[in-house]
Amino acid sequence: MCQHKPACPTSDSADREAARLMAHHPEQGWSLLCNGVLLFEDTGELLPDGQIIAPHRPRGSGQVMTAA
Ligand SMILES: [Zn+2]
Repeated sequence: MCQHKPACPTSDSADREAARLMAHHPEQGWSLLCNGVLLFEDTGELLPDGQIIAPHRPRGSGQVMTAA
C-alpha cells in the first residue's frame, strides 16, 4: 500500500503511527495511514488485519489518568 521511499513502517511495526497520512477526516475523527492503519482521534487504531489497538493517548495532554 505504501509507495514511499524509504518505505514507511508497516502496520505490524511498533512504529506504525509514523507512516504518512493518506486521508485525514478530522470531522469524522479518523485518519488513514499509508500502511493501511486507521488512526482514530482518541489514538485508537484499526489495523488492516482487523486487529484493534486500544487508545493510548500520552499522559500530560488533557486528562490525567490516576492509578487505581
Ligand atoms: Zn508511506
